[in-house]
Amino acid sequence: MSIIFHPEDTWVITRLSKAYRLRLTQTGTEWSGQYIDTNNSTHFSGTIVNGRGITLIHFLQTTPNNGYYAVHAGKLVHSDAIKGHWYDTAGHAGAFTLERDPNLAQSIDNARERAIANRISSPDPINLFPPTTAGVIPANDANRNVHPAFDCPSSMPDLPNSQIFGVVEGSVSYPAVTYLERSLPSTPDWIATAEPAEPTEVFRFVSSCLEIGCRQFGNGRCQLAQRIVQGFPPVTQALPTCAIRQSCRWWHQEREAACLRCPQIVRTNYALPTPIRRGGEGIFDLSTTVRHSDDHTTL
Ligand code: SF4
Repeated sequence: MSIIFHPEDTWVITRLSKAYRLRLTQTGTEWSGQYIDTNNSTHFSGTIVNGRGITLIHFLQTTPNNGYYAVHAGKLVHSDAIKGHWYDTAGHAGAFTLERDPNLAQSIDNARERAIANRISSPDPINLFPPTTAGVIPANDANRNVHPAFDCPSSMPDLPNSQIFGVVEGSVSYPAVTYLERSLPSTPDWIATAEPAEPTEVFRFVSSCLEIGCRQFGNGRCQLAQRIVQGFPPVTQALPTCAIRQSCRWWHQEREAACLRCPQIVRTNYALPTPIRRGGEGIFDLSTTVRHSDDHTTL
């Protein structure tokens, strides 16, 4: 039985034109969960059955002590959506959909489109933020230098403990990270959603800060964070709601100054965004950066 309800996913159930977010967890063929935004004791529990290439799902919604029950029966119509019908003890009935959070799916679509448009605008790939790259250390040696207290917010998917914490939406000129409510694991399924773009064009990844294993680290500080604060303009007036702040090295080192600039940061870019082109002059050797995709020493 493949897993449909990953514990880190958010699902949305829509009935009678109203939508509610759910967090659901699957064990074998059984699953259960509750509402995310509604503070009540409503509980969902269901079963998944497979046969003849079809996946069916039935589940019960209960609210203890008030006699409310709703029964649902549906069919998996694709990996992100179940459609079916329901009845409840309040006399309601109708069609329902249960979808993996469509906002996230839309964000990834937007980010992929932005990344592809960005490539078209410049045939020269550049990689603005390579905290561990350029062959400084192989990924499987990375544990040597991991400092457990801090995380790097401009990492890659194949490093230890890597997770997705943002999706780079916005436009070619003004990329804008949408920060996720909770980080997602860097699984092949999630990474594949970036294709044909590279994962680091579409997502922001966080993993343990490598400190001396990273060429951006010096004098006990992340030099990249320091240069971003010196060279880039703020792009927001309020701290983004960010799930990794507690462990983020940039935050611990530069505080608000980093967070107010962070939404424009894209690890892999094929063309320089406008604020970086304007704000980075004098701080970064932009001409060299644009010309040489592998020359990370310019940042
Ligand atoms: S710099 Fe601020 S907004 Fe960016 S990842 Fe760190 S805590 Fe989040």
